[in-house]
Amino acid sequence: MQALKIYETSANKPQQRWCSSCGSFDHSDIDKYSPSPWRIVSCSSCDFVYLANPASYDELAEEQAWEKNSNEEATRRRTQRPILDQLSKATRWRLNLLGHDRTHRFLKVFQQGRILDIGCGPGTTLPQPLVPFGVEISKCLSGMADKVMRQRGGYCVQGAATEGIKEFEDNFFDGILLHSFLEHETNPLPLLVGLHRILNNEGVVYIRVPNFSSLNRHVMGRKWCGFRYPDHVNYFTVKSLGQMAEKAGFKYNILNRANILVDDNIKMSLRKIEIGAFDA
Ligand SMILES: [Zn+2]
Repeated sequence: MQALKIYETSANKPQQRWCSSCGSFDHSDIDKYSPSPWRIVSCSSCDFVYLANPASYDELAEEQAWEKNSNEEATRRRTQRPILDQLSKATRWRLNLLGHDRTHRFLKVFQQGRILDIGCGPGTTLPQPLVPFGVEISKCLSGMADKVMRQRGGYCVQGAATEGIKEFEDNFFDGILLHSFLEHETNPLPLLVGLHRILNNEGVVYIRVPNFSSLNRHVMGRKWCGFRYPDHVNYFTVKSLGQMAEKAGFKYNILNRANILVDDNIKMSLRKIEIGAFDA
């Protein structure tokens, strides 16, 4: 297998990212989705859509932390979309229902055992009786998560996901959660390959990412809820996410297949392809 390239950024070098799925440097700019200075591009070889000039991991750890940007994003939405924002507030009661749904869904997918939450924030996402572990780049949030997780038998590693998962042994986890995470990761394929190593053979990965091929993205254009600059660095379709999962050694199942055309998110589960499955 060809060695996987890890994309790295630093303050001293110009930032130009290659395609995370196929490694090609050739791409075309999608100007209508690229507010200056950000550049959303489409790979010329495989059509994968991504941010060509993302922030560095160091900036993410301190300056571009999720908890800071989410406040800025709330302000942006209030000023740019006042009517929609008010509607959203008026229907906020639904969030409680969504919370219940999410807990129920996680328990259906994972059932029991050691579960790793990548980009775990403050560490409160995984319900009982799951044993929660986490990787979180924000120093502040990872400290909070570590306290919460140790009380339930797990712990949290502070760092970038591709580095943080190296702390764990082979086949350690029964499940791995990538909930609203993979769209933030500048090295999604190397990360999935690393997760394949630490997941046991019966384990499952649950992924939720914005659905770039959703009807709503076509209708809303740049105001689509899946765009977040510069936090979202990958814009997955079912096809590009499925292809990447297969390259990492997984088979995939689309959990919201019935309404995938109108859903703003893709929900997907991955399982390891059985070794020798293609030999028979
Ligand atoms: Zn590509």
